[in-house]
Amino acid sequence: MSAAADAFAAVFGPRSGDPSRAVEHTAAELVAAVGAGTLSPAEIWSEYATLAAGDELNAYLWRAAEDPGADAAAPLAGVPLAVKDLFCTEGVPSAAASRILEGYRPPYTATVVERLAAAGAPMLGKTNMDEFAMGSSNENSAFGAVANPWDRERVPGGSSGGSAAAVAGGIAPWAIGTDTGGSIRQPAALCGIVGLKPTYGTVSRYGMIAFASSLDQAGPLTRDVTDAALLLRHMVGGDACDSTSTGHPGEIELPTAERLDGVRFGVPPELTGDGVEPGVRAVFEAALARIEELGGSVTEVPLPHSGHAISAYYVLAPAEASANLARFDGVRYGRRAAADGDLLSLYEQTREEGFGPEVKRRIMLGTYALSSGYYDAYYGRAQRVRTKIAEDFAAAFDQVDLIVCPTSPTVAFKLGERTADPLAMYLSDVLTVPMSLAGIPAISIPGGLADGLPVGIQLAGPAFAENRILDAALALERAIDFRSQAAARG
Ligand code: GLN
Repeated sequence: MSAAADAFAAVFGPRSGDPSRAVEHTAAELVAAVGAGTLSPAEIWSEYATLAAGDELNAYLWRAAEDPGADAAAPLAGVPLAVKDLFCTEGVPSAAASRILEGYRPPYTATVVERLAAAGAPMLGKTNMDEFAMGSSNENSAFGAVANPWDRERVPGGSSGGSAAAVAGGIAPWAIGTDTGGSIRQPAALCGIVGLKPTYGTVSRYGMIAFASSLDQAGPLTRDVTDAALLLRHMVGGDACDSTSTGHPGEIELPTAERLDGVRFGVPPELTGDGVEPGVRAVFEAALARIEELGGSVTEVPLPHSGHAISAYYVLAPAEASANLARFDGVRYGRRAAADGDLLSLYEQTREEGFGPEVKRRIMLGTYALSSGYYDAYYGRAQRVRTKIAEDFAAAFDQVDLIVCPTSPTVAFKLGERTADPLAMYLSDVLTVPMSLAGIPAISIPGGLADGLPVGIQLAGPAFAENRILDAALALERAIDFRSQAAARG
């Protein structure tokens, strides 16, 4: 068995029962082991640095050479962190997986990475992703695709595919990613792990290389729900460097729920019908049955405008991207083309060489949508649709506590299967984009297997309902017992 397959089995298969091996534990268990004195931060670092060095998934783009020597008494006890390549990290390559930023080493570190390091989670490495977070399969990376550890011929999802594959493959204890339209939740679903997109504004965006600023939000990718809560607790907080950051009104609690008595779940027919594969539907229906066994109620609740979410998103996100990416001109950051002639040809040549095809497509779409004469017809209308979608959720949360639906309409697809068809790729996020447009929090947890591949279940709640979501997710996670299902996989 290969090193990565071995690590994968250690995470999801039957454990070997050797408590001195870091990979046998969740991050929360590692923190406890350090507290109890059975493992040291140096031992954890050393094991994970070795595992990360043996990366066969192309999950990492950069790895830390040295143990930073974390403090065992810090809240996160030195459990190291994999960081998506779009977080700026001082002196460390931060390219958002784009040629245009190849070699760029920022002079500062993103607030969230700094916060986590201060809490005792030092950076183990930078992870692969779709270029500028545009994609759903990680195949848009300038540095090659990432393999899904469940089946290396399949995609890990995207755009946080490297972070998801590293955690699922057992070569990182936990990771952070970003979600603009689904980029934490969808790869978490396709890799059989937990991914949480917090309420817009709870986590600072300072130092995140921007894609669509009104949607981008950082969040955790972890082996289980408790780890997601523990990591998120140290990510949230207002930041003077990000005027849209609000922080979280209360502390993120470690979840404890075992039951769902009295919790009202709403199933939107629009997000559970057309396009959802039969295998995904079967796992989703089994999850609904579990919710009822645990004492929760399940009713149908409409989200009538969610069918327009993908169309609105692919006007708004490219519009914001076209403005955000204007700064990459060969003068201020990263790559500069060896252009003869005037300044304009330097810009053009740099952008022609530096951006990949999907990024160019988005810049063209966004520039067109924002051009005078078309602005109202496209951007203005898409903004109105966005408001309608947010109103649908608000009305739904008058009736139910949480929305439940699958995270992705399909399981992990084959590498290359959707690269020639952008629309098919865009539809990978049809179940996650509505929550992004509404700015509300949502988690994906593993619900079971279809054809031997993981299926994600998504729970969404009103703004700042992270604690409610985490509690319900924990109760459901316990009842589903994905680890046993994965172990029985064959
Ligand atoms: N897949 C979606 C896109 O390509 C979402 C990406 C994301 O959330 N960063 O835009």
